[in-house]
Amino acid sequence: CGIVGYVGERNALDILIKGLERLEYRGYDSAGVSLIEKSDVKVFKCKGKVADLKKQLEGKDTKGSTGIGHTRWATHGAPNDVNAHPHYSSDQKLAMVHNGIIENYEVLKSQLIEKGHVFQSETDTEVFIHFIEQVQKDNNCDLDEAVRIALNEVVGAYAIVITSKDNPGQLVAARKGSPLVIGVGEGEFFLASDATPIVEYTKDVVYIKDEEVVLLKDGEMTITDVKNQEQTPYIQTLELEL
Ligand code: GLU
Repeated sequence: CGIVGYVGERNALDILIKGLERLEYRGYDSAGVSLIEKSDVKVFKCKGKVADLKKQLEGKDTKGSTGIGHTRWATHGAPNDVNAHPHYSSDQKLAMVHNGIIENYEVLKSQLIEKGHVFQSETDTEVFIHFIEQVQKDNNCDLDEAVRIALNEVVGAYAIVITSKDNPGQLVAARKGSPLVIGVGEGEFFLASDATPIVEYTKDVVYIKDEEVVLLKDGEMTITDVKNQEQTPYIQTLELEL
């Protein structure tokens, strides 16, 4: 339902929580965040409101200047703590938030189970991130390349953002059918399912197009299509005020 992401120098959690609160109007049943700090990946998530998530975060080590957040509107699997996003890959190196529906998740899931994958949740999302993980292993490639390959096999609608333990200062995102916006700051990037969480930090935004894959790393933004053709980002300046 709602997505927020941040990569830069600031404390990601503040931006993620504020962003999720700004997206509450969309309606949701669960909330969660993942933070990555020096190769240490943490996931906090629960059924309920962003206020419940904030309670869970009290007193926890929430350092990290890269992170992703999600408010879930359940489509596959009951609204509960385990089905809340973010979801891990099986090696827990990747964490992903996802809006939308993967229609062929059952086929992908049984193929992955045959390869030894074990699933914690009932969601299509967890299948999607395990599939990306498997594609990356099979092709021995970078995460953004694995996402491009995986998207050719995935049927459905999605906006996704992924963090990687191996690349703490990086976000990989993609979309088809579900919206996703990049906020372009100075040496930092914001991501969200609409511009409302972004406008207080920057008015310069890029609306990601269907089937584009975005790599945000080292203050650089690279956008490619699924065939790995680099796209020139169209940066718009919003007039929107909060
Ligand atoms: N299909 C996913 C799920 O049920 C994502 C739902 C959403 O867009 O929030 O977990």
